[in-house]
Amino acid sequence: MSNPAGKTPQAIRGTQDIFGADAEAFAFVVETFERVRKLYRFRRVEMPVFERTEVFARSIGETTDIVSKEMYSFEDRGGESLTLRPEFTAGIARAFITDGWQQHAPLKVATHGPLFRYERPQKGRYRQFHQLDAEIIGAGEPQADVELLAMADQLLKELGIADGVTLHLNTLGDGNSREAWRAALVEHFRAVKGELSDDSQERLEKNPLRILDSKDPRDKAFVADAPKIDDYLSGEAQDFFDSVTAGLDAAGVAWERDPALVRGLDYYRHTAFEFVTDRLGAQGTVLGGGRYDGLMESLGGAPTPAVGWAAGIERLAMLVGERGEAFADVAVVVESDEMLASAIAALGKLRAAGLSAELHASGSPRKRFDKAVRAGAGAILAFDARDGIGSHRIKADDPARERIEALIS
Ligand code: ATP
Ligand code: MG
Repeated sequence: MSNPAGKTPQAIRGTQDIFGADAEAFAFVVETFERVRKLYRFRRVEMPVFERTEVFARSIGETTDIVSKEMYSFEDRGGESLTLRPEFTAGIARAFITDGWQQHAPLKVATHGPLFRYERPQKGRYRQFHQLDAEIIGAGEPQADVELLAMADQLLKELGIADGVTLHLNTLGDGNSREAWRAALVEHFRAVKGELSDDSQERLEKNPLRILDSKDPRDKAFVADAPKIDDYLSGEAQDFFDSVTAGLDAAGVAWERDPALVRGLDYYRHTAFEFVTDRLGAQGTVLGGGRYDGLMESLGGAPTPAVGWAAGIERLAMLVGERGEAFADVAVVVESDEMLASAIAALGKLRAAGLSAELHASGSPRKRFDKAVRAGAGAILAFDARDGIGSHRIKADDPARERIEALIS
């Protein structure tokens, strides 16, 4: 109604129409992920794009940015509060409980697709964006963390973007370590409360770990000398972290300790990590994750250890850079219209044999061959008819010519 008839509706702010070289880079990221997840034996899952709102509210945590201000929630026609997924983990955890996936534990799953967050759109930050996601559920051993990180590391290498992307690693300790650290942080920041940013003053009581994540210069000085998790780690939590780092070293995965790294969500325990680059400005985190041993219980399931990560496809694709669209293996040219059926039959045979082929059969017949040459195909197969006699010719190097000839005859 707000749009007068005849005027084209615009795309929604923060959504993207991805085309051409950008779409090729996007597809390259997804294809590479699909290949690598199979190497690590992660099983593919497809998840709903929306869930009951409480799936996200209870698992991600009410005090997080995502739940408090970024969710696309709405009431459906049945009066139920639903939310477009802002992340994958909560829905996968819900399915693990409701679909009896426990019987497959330890379960390694991977998926990818669109997510929705009401954020301020800018380069590398959208309202509909896309993630790759990998989770290991029902595995409490540090080697699960190592396997998951090795997979992320190999993905970045195979995308050709590992240079300049660094793995930042931290531990948040177990439940007790984290609580003790949290209490020390509250005490530390309370003493300087009036000098903190407004956001951080608010976080102080609800989610003090998040102050460490603050980008506000007013907070930075107090973050620098804040209590460190290392002083609060239980022996067990320290052993766990040592096993993770030893495993990474054995796997040849380079990492850097970042004692101020916390993740935005409430459910993390032990390992927390991000792969970060300085090549994307403020949107430099391309992949993040950690261990979320507390999550299943918050959704009413049995205690189940789990670890996972998610990566922004758009940010990875920006690092990959533009990728040209591939040329056709064969351009099929119809120079005389009565040869169209022969050309269509040949196209079918070429494609069935795994060669990509494009038909050139429109516009002035005399210009079609030149157009096909300009399109850059590997070979050209042209059909014409003189004096009622159909014939074809092939422009290609010898092996390709022989192969095409054999396929179409
Ligand atoms: P940020 O600090 O950039 O907001 P985040 O901690 O909210 O990231 P996660 O929830 O961990 O991000 O999501 C994992 C990855 O998904 C991020 O590292 C990033 O690559 C990507 N991502 C998150 N939000 C967006 C968005 N709005 N647009 C594009 N990519 C995003
Ligand atoms: Mg965010």
